[in-house]
Amino acid sequence: MSFESLGLSPALLRALADAGYTTPTPIQNEAIPLALAGHDLIAGAQTGTGKTAAFGLPLLQHLAGRTPDGKGPRRPRALVLAPTRELALQVHDSLRGYAKHLSLRMAAVYGGVGMQGQIDALRRGVDVLVATPGRLIDHLDRRGVDLSQVEVLVLDEADRMLDMGFLPAIKRILGGLPKQRQSLLFSATFETALKQLAQQFLREPREVQVTPVNTVAETISHRAHPVDAARKRDLLLDLLRQPDIGQTLVFSRTKHGADKLARLLNQAGIASDAIHGNRNQNQRLRALGGFKQGRIAVLVATDVAARGIDIDRLPTVINFDLPMVAEDYVHRIGRTGRAGAEGQAISLVTAEDAPLLRAINKVLGREVSLVDHAGFAPSTPIRIEAPSQPSRARPAGHNRRSHAGAPRRAHAGAGAARSRGGQGGHAAPRQPSRP
Ligand code: AMP
Repeated sequence: MSFESLGLSPALLRALADAGYTTPTPIQNEAIPLALAGHDLIAGAQTGTGKTAAFGLPLLQHLAGRTPDGKGPRRPRALVLAPTRELALQVHDSLRGYAKHLSLRMAAVYGGVGMQGQIDALRRGVDVLVATPGRLIDHLDRRGVDLSQVEVLVLDEADRMLDMGFLPAIKRILGGLPKQRQSLLFSATFETALKQLAQQFLREPREVQVTPVNTVAETISHRAHPVDAARKRDLLLDLLRQPDIGQTLVFSRTKHGADKLARLLNQAGIASDAIHGNRNQNQRLRALGGFKQGRIAVLVATDVAARGIDIDRLPTVINFDLPMVAEDYVHRIGRTGRAGAEGQAISLVTAEDAPLLRAINKVLGREVSLVDHAGFAPSTPIRIEAPSQPSRARPAGHNRRSHAGAPRRAHAGAGAARSRGGQGGHAAPRQPSRP
């Protein structure tokens, strides 16, 4: 398939050529023709699959083909709701790139910054509004935005928006939109509340699911280093000092922990910054910008802050702490190995992490190799129990670049993974609220 054969306009094709895109990704192949035909859509796609263009290109083509009604400043004809400021900005930037040969106005509104700049932008008029739900409600309450002309609605990373408690805000926003519209819902997972939302607000949606839920790129190697809790920081430093480690995103479970790690790394001469919900918008943008431009070697992040971060060619993700929810491992690792690039995922695991690692193996459908890192073998060995039933899991290739020993023990804990709300981890896992 080519972009031409998907029915996109010359102006969009030129922008895609400018961006160096030659072939549509699977989600683009599936979603673009359906969206161009005017269907509502439920799309199962994670960050990194090219989902922004999958909804963005049809949306832009739709808007560019029609002149806005009435006089005065333009009112939004497309609304994209996204869970985080980072994702909202990223979507806004991507859409601007795709729309570079069209004369459409765009704005992004999100929390953590002053209202005035956004109020002014809305007053000047916009065609496409990208917004986080909470800040959009603020603007609606001040009557600073009129959504009566919205023709296309996109819910991006809908599961994460629900996970973050935005359901009431989303319902309120959607309840006030014109009934006659196109709605496109993108999500990595589909739990009951999301299905109900889709039933309530979408009309005869077509479903596209290109990447099975909870798969990660085959080009990523996974390994876990067993370590005593007290030595995790030293092990992290040792790993980051390996010559071939490359730029690294490090995950910490807590905001406080993320700050402490970034400080420790800077003191050790490794340029780092932290990104999490307690940092203000400028700090977050500075950290992300520094990382993208290569000024910062290590970005330490919490799960919520990292969602939607798009970094080209990120070679390494390190889980300093394992995520509390196994499915988040997949989201974390989705930052590397994009578009066929090689990546490595390294996890530091203590004896208490064994149940989490079992759950991760189950969600991944393969085994994360346990590899002792030279000089850091733990005093208590980690026991990953043998599966109660024959496992279909296959070993995840342990990393060539590891200078550590051979994998010790690695069994998929098929019987031990947590199953929440009566759902297994394989088909449509629940995304419980953050602890
Ligand atoms: P997304 O899933 O929308 O966040 O996109 C992930 C990354 O893939 C972004 O850096 C996009 O610019 C890039 N991308 C999206 N579609 C294509 C494509 N067809 N060819 C090459 N890169 C793409």
